[in-house]
Amino acid sequence: VKEQGKNNFRFYTPDMNEAVSKKMKLEFGLRKGLERDEFKVYYQPQVDVTSGRVIGVEALIRWQHPEWGNIPPADFIPLAEETGLIIPIGEWILYEACRQNKCWQNQGYPPLRMAVNISSRQFQQSNLVETVSKTLKRTGLDPQYLDLELTESIIQDSKYAVSTMQKLKSMGIHLSIDDFGTGYSSLSYLKLFPIDSLKIDRSFTSNIFTDSKDAALVHTIIIMAHNLDLKVIAEGVETQEQLRFLQESKCNEAQGYLFSRPVIAGEMSAILTKQYDK
Ligand code: C2E
Ligand code: CA
Ligand code: CA
Ligand code: CA
Repeated sequence: VKEQGKNNFRFYTPDMNEAVSKKMKLEFGLRKGLERDEFKVYYQPQVDVTSGRVIGVEALIRWQHPEWGNIPPADFIPLAEETGLIIPIGEWILYEACRQNKCWQNQGYPPLRMAVNISSRQFQQSNLVETVSKTLKRTGLDPQYLDLELTESIIQDSKYAVSTMQKLKSMGIHLSIDDFGTGYSSLSYLKLFPIDSLKIDRSFTSNIFTDSKDAALVHTIIIMAHNLDLKVIAEGVETQEQLRFLQESKCNEAQGYLFSRPVIAGEMSAILTKQYDK
């Protein structure tokens, strides 16, 4: 967040710790941002590596502040989690992403899976299952076209996690583990969790050709996942060489700048139209 003009934030006092004041500004901004509709959803295609077709999209939040400009999610999601504001923000993006997906289906595009990030704070909410179910009803989206991306951090309470995931699964929703391999959890959760796919983190994908250990890890994660009947999607795919490596390793899907950056709904429609015409 950029430094502001002098008069904007009256609660600032010189002896206040600068980090604290920055945080308060940001929290205030988040609350205002929700009221003033400053959040947007961008969409990034997920491509089947065999056919090259877009079969899913990930919804990624963007915050456009009138004075501070674009604020990347990494700069506000952690505070949104800490303050609990991730709950209303998360409900909003879930609704918006489901609504948009249903809208593309109504326009006649082949149905896509819509991936939505669920923070661990959201996952811990006792009404998560109800919120998801209501959102699907309100938007009319078939549950099989919703994919919830969960991180390994939800494993803290694995009993609770398993029972919540089972409820979501029984509704027909697709579940993925995001940023796979970056958490500090043991692999044993893989046999407990009713999940459908693993997302290989970008930190592995980007180093396939610079670090032979990363290449070995990517290759091994794919084999392990397939043996567990899980699909694999690699994120952060930026080059043709990386894609080729993933194809040879039998990775199922890929996502990254090689195909497209996250784009607004209108641009996503254009990508889908182009593919439809082929
Ligand atoms: P993530 O879920 O791992 O999302 C992937 C991030 O990698 C996105 O960053 C995306 O724009 C970026 N990315 C995709 N392909 C490439 C590539 O080829 N190269 C590079 N360098 N980057 C690529 P973004 O949108 O800035 O989001 C960052 C993180 O913020 C996300 O990581 C996710 O953890 C969180 N986030 C974003 N939107 C939401 C949301 O709606 N809810 C929650 N809870 N978290 C979100
Ligand atoms: Ca994600
Ligand atoms: Ca990810
Ligand atoms: Ca990541």
